[in-house]
Amino acid sequence: MELSKPRGTRDFLFEEMNQRKQVEATLKKVFETYAYQEIKTPLFENLSLFTIKSGEQIVEQLYNFKDKNERELTLRPEITAPVARLYMSNMQKSPKPIKMYYYGSCFRYERPQKGRYRQFWQFGCELIGGKTPEADAEIITMASQSLEKLGLEGYEIHIGHLGIVRGLLKEAQVEESHQEQIMVLIDKGDVEELQNFLKEVDMDYETTNILLMIIEMKGGCEILDNLRAKINDKKMVLDALDEFSQLLKTLNDFGVGDFGRNTKFVINLGIARGLDYYSGMVFEIYVPKLGAQKQICGGGSYNLIENFGGEKVGSTGFAFGFDRLMGALIHQNKELKSDGAANIFVAPISNATRPKSFEITQKLRNAGISTEVDLGRRKFKKILTYANHIGARYVILVGEKDLLEGNITLKNMETGDQEEIPVDNIVEHVLKLI
Ligand code: ATP
Ligand code: MG
Repeated sequence: MELSKPRGTRDFLFEEMNQRKQVEATLKKVFETYAYQEIKTPLFENLSLFTIKSGEQIVEQLYNFKDKNERELTLRPEITAPVARLYMSNMQKSPKPIKMYYYGSCFRYERPQKGRYRQFWQFGCELIGGKTPEADAEIITMASQSLEKLGLEGYEIHIGHLGIVRGLLKEAQVEESHQEQIMVLIDKGDVEELQNFLKEVDMDYETTNILLMIIEMKGGCEILDNLRAKINDKKMVLDALDEFSQLLKTLNDFGVGDFGRNTKFVINLGIARGLDYYSGMVFEIYVPKLGAQKQICGGGSYNLIENFGGEKVGSTGFAFGFDRLMGALIHQNKELKSDGAANIFVAPISNATRPKSFEITQKLRNAGISTEVDLGRRKFKKILTYANHIGARYVILVGEKDLLEGNITLKNMETGDQEEIPVDNIVEHVLKLI
């Protein structure tokens, strides 16, 4: 029997799972303070959900299969398209904007390596309807605040706007299919291949020059002014630049600069994003120290819903690559406190005190305190060793003599200190300690 796990998948043991839960909880809290609400969609979808817009070539990257009724299905590779589907069937009439977030696993048939798995988790959000530069700014602010709350250091938020390059290509009346190909090549970052392609399709000299210049533009706010000065009459490009400026102004109003010294913004007009449903603002967050898998977050505004045949409704969203985020936090030795299995371990010193021990245990549990009690009829010494092993913070020693006086002994496992406490006060006392 084959007992190894499938390639590109992982098991998570107690400590790692505790760390992941803590990060999950922090992200949930931040997203909820921005009025996002959680949703969940199926782990598998109809294959067509992902091929409609991304084309058949995406199938190479998918875990697709036929079910017993010959339906073409696939494990989901991302969660934006499922959310768009969910919106189309349940929420088209709801007041806008709709703010949703999700946390769940995605599956891609990729070559596994550090930071790249076949099952990985995304924590992301979508804001549907009411997309404005202000909404884009709020979403970037939320991504940034999430990372600040987690204490991540040394990350860069790169922001771009696809309206600039797309506007340029549209003004030059470049064929739609060529436009798509150009975006793919920009995303790949292969300038030479891009140059060859531009030659091949006879792109005019001016457009070629401006395009090659734009995709190299990276830096502070001055970039937008520099570009504006070089573009005089291309209305679509100028409109995109205006929108970009408004976004940056609103980021400032939201006070993102105040979160801390960690947040570093870079205007990067070379961002194209792989999927072709992105339309306006795009952003990616990098932790350069992670090397090839440095991208921990990606997002932007998109028009997927129109592509699915819905009404035109501006949307924007992003997803953290949860595993890469964990990798970055652990790499930086961020203290992700692991609570251990129980805060309190109730240890009967003799068999006679077992009934009372169970009673005390339930009192603590009813008060919401994670509590473990010996179930193995073990000797007292063995119980202490085990309590220590699972990382219990306190042990309650329940002894016959103590009980006669109405007391138990509370042992602090870190310091070794012991104190006597009236049985009737245990819950109040423990609540103050943890
Ligand atoms: P990459 O270029 O690294 O493959 P991507 O452009 O395919 O990323 P997105 O589709 O934007 O990534 O997914 C959002 C985030 O999910 C990424 O920024 C990344 O952090 C994470 N991610 C993507 N693919 C994987 C994977 N196979 N394993 C782990 N995390 C992943
Ligand atoms: Mg990828």
